[in-house]
Amino acid sequence: MHQPMRIDIITCLPRLLDSFFAHSILQRAQQSGLVEVAIHDLRDYSVDKHRRVDDYAFGGGAGMVMSIDPIARCIRNLQAERAYDEVIYMTPDGKRFDQRTANRLSLTRNLIILCGHYKGVDERVRQLFITKEISIGDYVLSGGELPAAIVSDAIIRLLPGVLTDETSALTDSFQDNLLAPPVYTRPADFEGHTVPDVLLSGHEAKINEWRFEQALSRTRQRRPDLLGED
Ligand code: SAH
Repeated sequence: MHQPMRIDIITCLPRLLDSFFAHSILQRAQQSGLVEVAIHDLRDYSVDKHRRVDDYAFGGGAGMVMSIDPIARCIRNLQAERAYDEVIYMTPDGKRFDQRTANRLSLTRNLIILCGHYKGVDERVRQLFITKEISIGDYVLSGGELPAAIVSDAIIRLLPGVLTDETSALTDSFQDNLLAPPVYTRPADFEGHTVPDVLLSGHEAKINEWRFEQALSRTRQRRPDLLGED
């Protein structure tokens, strides 16, 4: 069997991430050996007797800055064990995350994801260790844990074998630059609101055609930018 993908997440709030990876699809993916997720408590790498990982900003101003020392120690420890494809820092001034980036990252083997806190990390961490900076959108959160969880989730569900229906990820929104078509399940009639006839026809070619048309018109309506039409 080939090596599972590995994601190492560095955080000063490990508990926040533990539960996220302990459920549903992400839990199953780990249990079946398709991905290994390791969460590292940054405080374990602090040599300070109070296990501090932050300090006051040079030049003054509000907000603490995450120190380079524990982060450097943690990253170097990991890099001594294996080669990493990317060392990612979650940050609002990074490149906006999208499905294309998720697809690309799902083809890598080993990733480190660093979660920031407070005012962010010492700039030298970014210069010396970080190979990729990712934002999950134009808003500011209090920590990088949710962003790291979002990026990990988007990557892991793309790994072969993770979703039960192998083709399922391919028909999601943004693959092929189209939004997903509407979906229905039983009952076929809910208080007079019925399901489109074609879906009950059993005619696969017609169903696929209908889905494609729906995806196209939905994309045109909601996200013409994806079609280059805005
Ligand atoms: N002072 C920084 C914000 C720090 S927010 C600035 O203005 O750019 C604290 C931490 O939360 C960041 O270090 C980052 O790891 C995380 N974070 C907040 N918003 C984020 C976003 N939109 N995308 C990714 N990470 C984010």
